[in-house]
Amino acid sequence: MRDFQTVRGTRDLLPKEARRLRFIINKAIETAELYGYKEVITPVLESYELLNAKSGEEIRARMFKFDDLGGRPTVLRPEFTASIARLVTTSLKKPLPIRFFSVGTVYRYDEPQHGRYREFWQSNFELMGSSKPEADAEVILLTNRLMKAAGLRNYKFKLGHVGVLRAVLSQDGIDERTQNTILQRMDKEEYESALEIVRNDRCIDDTLHALFNLKEYYPLVSDPVGAVEEIKRIVKGYEKAEAAAENLAAILRLVTESGCEIKTTVNPAFARGLEYYTGMIFEVYIPGLNIALGGGGRYDKLIEVFGGEPTPAVGVAHGLDRIALAKKTQALQNLPTIIKPAHKKRVLIIPANQEAKVKALKIAELLREAKIRTEFEIMGRTIDKALKKAKHRKVDYAVIVGKPTLSEDWVVLQDLSDETNKEERVVNMSVSMLVEKLRSKK
Ligand code: AMP
Repeated sequence: MRDFQTVRGTRDLLPKEARRLRFIINKAIETAELYGYKEVITPVLESYELLNAKSGEEIRARMFKFDDLGGRPTVLRPEFTASIARLVTTSLKKPLPIRFFSVGTVYRYDEPQHGRYREFWQSNFELMGSSKPEADAEVILLTNRLMKAAGLRNYKFKLGHVGVLRAVLSQDGIDERTQNTILQRMDKEEYESALEIVRNDRCIDDTLHALFNLKEYYPLVSDPVGAVEEIKRIVKGYEKAEAAAENLAAILRLVTESGCEIKTTVNPAFARGLEYYTGMIFEVYIPGLNIALGGGGRYDKLIEVFGGEPTPAVGVAHGLDRIALAKKTQALQNLPTIIKPAHKKRVLIIPANQEAKVKALKIAELLREAKIRTEFEIMGRTIDKALKKAKHRKVDYAVIVGKPTLSEDWVVLQDLSDETNKEERVVNMSVSMLVEKLRSKK
């Protein structure tokens, strides 16, 4: 009999490997629950037109494409974002923000090698409706939580901002197609060849050179905030680029002050292959494995491209096979098999004002650490409006942080369910009491 093999770039996962991957998948599902992302399941098959309309050249060239028996051009999905954008623009009228989570296989005609397959698993998180830095911070924080829950150590976030680069290039008249080519070359770390395109424009050449050189400047790696200050200095005079750098600084501040001890580096020469990014971008790595375990960023124009209302959005995809591989690489023993279920109750954290944001984010992370499902108010709504929306969505509790009448460590806990007595509905308490109280509510 012929010796049949799996199709190139695909694998059979035997029980041990399957259990390893299933563990990571379960952690992704748990993370989605903790951050208030609802699961959606979309087809593996999509129309070629959908992906052709939206994916960057990088992905388009590597799709599994075929005509079905009716002659319709069809693809195996190479990513989730296109499917979610289709769903949001065509069949969904939902109040913002939308938090969607998906998990499943995706297909790309990549050259197979260590940690690179043609069929692989991703968990995908999309947050639509907010342009605020707390939305960007949220996808970084949830990625951090997934990496931690998966059991990884010493992983690092690499951050950049497409807006900085695009603003410099636009202000000096470089059209979008050329910008895409430059960013693609940078994504492949072909910096010299990226610079060649702008060689006869002295001003851009100097600015890009300075940005590229910054990535080599080691002390800044351990001081991401300092790195952003340097970026600001380099792009002075490019107004939109300065604003983009300031946006990156705001995201970094929220992430570094969240109490999560996230290791971040900022690389101004970092670009990602997908063309739809417009703002902050990031990837996660562990030492000794030179492949990204996940990556994402902000894409504010995508829903518009699909014919929907302009909707700011930020998202991330995690490579679950690679996280399993990273775990193996770090030789973590005693794979836990019992996954603690998250609490069923849902909580919304509302900062009372601008100054309370960081503190509120810290409290949100404390609750998630205690396995309490916690959403964060990222739309900049007033307290009353946020409470009304939360009640409408049947959220169980609201926690208001930073009310001027309360002392530093105290918050307001509001029970949003209708059954409770009116007098017991709003209670002031300390943060530690809050964690205990919510933990006791199943
Ligand atoms: P992307 O959708 O390109 O942003 O990729 C998100 C994540 O998917 C990456 O950071 C990787 O962890 C994972 N990934 C991408 N391509 C592959 C591949 N060929 N094999 C395994 N994992 C991949």
